[in-house]
Amino acid sequence: LTQATLDNIEKTDDQLNAFITTNAQEAMKKASEIDEKGEFTHVLSGLPVALKDNLSTKGIPTTGASHILEGFKPVYDATVVDKLQNAGAISVGKANMDEFAMGGSTETSYYKQTTNAWDHTKVPGGSSGGSAAAVAGGLVPFALGSDTGGSIRQPAAFNGIVGLKPTYGRVSRWGLFAMASSLDQIGPFTRTVKDNALVLNTIAGFDAKDSTSSNRDVPDFTSKLSGDVKGLKIAVPKEYFGEGIDPKVAATVKAAIAQLEALGAIVDEVTLPHTKYGVAAYYIIMSSEASSNLQRYDGVRYGFRADNVKTLEDLYVKTRSEGFGDEVKRRIMLGTFSLSAGAYDAFFKKAAKIRTLLIEDFNKVFEDYDVIVGPTAPTVAYGLGEEIDDPTAMYLADVLTIPVNLAGLPGLSVNAGFVDGLPVGLQIIGKPFDEQTVYQTGFAYE
Ligand code: GLN
Repeated sequence: LTQATLDNIEKTDDQLNAFITTNAQEAMKKASEIDEKGEFTHVLSGLPVALKDNLSTKGIPTTGASHILEGFKPVYDATVVDKLQNAGAISVGKANMDEFAMGGSTETSYYKQTTNAWDHTKVPGGSSGGSAAAVAGGLVPFALGSDTGGSIRQPAAFNGIVGLKPTYGRVSRWGLFAMASSLDQIGPFTRTVKDNALVLNTIAGFDAKDSTSSNRDVPDFTSKLSGDVKGLKIAVPKEYFGEGIDPKVAATVKAAIAQLEALGAIVDEVTLPHTKYGVAAYYIIMSSEASSNLQRYDGVRYGFRADNVKTLEDLYVKTRSEGFGDEVKRRIMLGTFSLSAGAYDAFFKKAAKIRTLLIEDFNKVFEDYDVIVGPTAPTVAYGLGEEIDDPTAMYLADVLTIPVNLAGLPGLSVNAGFVDGLPVGLQIIGKPFDEQTVYQTGFAYE
């Protein structure tokens, strides 16, 4: 299976461009070990997986799709990588992404342009576009991505597959390149809800190396996959169908919700009144945290280093000027500004207050409902190169996924249908640590 997967990637990935690096040798070595021992003890044993290139893999180049980490080989594995390896899964390669996970189309990658699995003239979404395209294109049965503001759910939606952002703290972030530490979560891409739950079973759980990982028990995430949603209370926020949402996308998602209702779920319209402030708050909080997290890329410790420098400061400035792309620089500047003494109260503090209001919006709805359902993204996948020069438009397109990260909730995207031949995502948002009900809903619909 591993050999066939590697051959298939070799043959077909020049269209998808889902991988930055493949590691045939290491993969074949691990696969043979498992074969020899005959140890297929875990449900994932022997299954190939693609890992987003911001997950540390020992001895295998990990770049975050940035020039500044070109050639960097980590000295340790991320906790999720360890867990998959212990289960016998075989990592075949590192998937393309937006540089440092900053973007929604995988177009800010320094290395290559991944395409949508359904139409190679369209974006795969992002930032985990390579992971999503690799699964949707049939190159691997599952992949891992990271989601800070939608980067698992939106590419899952654009490629018609299943993607979960777990509750903040459910999965250890150890070994994930930090973008915005209070928002980042790692999660699975799969073709079915059940597969997704099986991968989450493997990667979830407390990790002493991540102080924000939760020590709650990890339930069996497949336990509520009965297909039954009778009496389940579903909230549909009216703001998720408002201005800026493509009417055809809205109609497709409404039809999906009607199917859940036909299965016996109780569906009501609700309000999440602060939704419209989410994007502004996120771009301040995310870039503030990112500007701090990205200080470590200084040309001294990892990867790329500029030449012809005279002083240490020169080394920092030149390495960072040459090593980071425009989108990363834009966010470092925005974040550094928001945290500066003169701007802190007007920007960062205000954004933090909005974050609290968004959490309260969700809490209120969850007093009466089990899940919140709406579209994952306002549109289907757009053309390559179409949006990338308009950062504000790109940021606004994150309106439906961002509040979930700001509130730390679990969010799943499953395919709701198609508009003009392109997949539409149905987003299912749950209470903290209630991935089981989120999966239950997705499974019943799927
Ligand atoms: N598109 C969002 C952004 O550019 C989300 C990125 C992410 O989740 N990593 O910030």
